[in-house]
Amino acid sequence: MKPVFANSAFVTAPERLFLRGGAWRRVPLKVRYGFFRHPTAGPVMIDTGYGPRVTEGPRSLALRLYNAILGPNLAAEGQPEPVLRRLGLKSDEVGTIIVTHFHADHVASLNLFPKARIIAKADLLRKILKQPARKNLRHGIFRDLLPADFASRVEDVDGVAVREAPLGLGRGRDLFGDGSVLAIDLPGHAEGHFGLCFAGLPVPLLYAVDVQWCTEALEEDRRPGFPASLIADNPQALAESTRRVLAFRQAGGEVLLCHDPAESRYDLAAEAP
Ligand SMILES: [Zn+2]
Repeated sequence: MKPVFANSAFVTAPERLFLRGGAWRRVPLKVRYGFFRHPTAGPVMIDTGYGPRVTEGPRSLALRLYNAILGPNLAAEGQPEPVLRRLGLKSDEVGTIIVTHFHADHVASLNLFPKARIIAKADLLRKILKQPARKNLRHGIFRDLLPADFASRVEDVDGVAVREAPLGLGRGRDLFGDGSVLAIDLPGHAEGHFGLCFAGLPVPLLYAVDVQWCTEALEEDRRPGFPASLIADNPQALAESTRRVLAFRQAGGEVLLCHDPAESRYDLAAEAP
């Protein structure tokens, strides 16, 4: 069961911001989200990427400001609907969406999937839905992007059995009960942030989401310092999570990150013109 990843948008940032010793030149970062077909659960998505709810139409002032600062350039052909069409699916056929964390670039298109069950950190979601908007904003979370009935559709990541992941990665949550996809806690970037290990692939894959923005930055001497450290929810936990991901890679695993500008063999090929 091999996932594919689409790119919902580009965000340009100076390389030095996310890679120690990098250039000052601005690099187009991707905003990936994933898709796979599980033999019993059917079509599953991993996050949803950036979508028009961040960039246009009626939005909260906070979301407008966020959009003005980051300025994501949406990739029209990389949005969920055209991508699913390419894969021979309609959006209402996606039965499950795994939400790795609640940042805007991961949840912006959840509105397209009003019926999907959502696998996420349920306790954290309840906290987000209860606490004042300013607290969420401080953590880069916009309530207006979360579906109103989110809580009733959520299935808790931490409610499923634990299983040992390959290559010394440690324990993860066995999301489908068959060992195929394990949710791996990678705290630090955002509260509750987790990655996904595709344990049954010939070379196990860890989608480490936002643990770093490019794979070179996993190396101890290439990890960005200030001001990237300001963005982290918990810099110490982030360093620990980065070490865990790097050790998995050094043990022979493959790592994919959401924003890595480099192409991955898991990227859905650009459509021929
Ligand atoms: Zn994030």
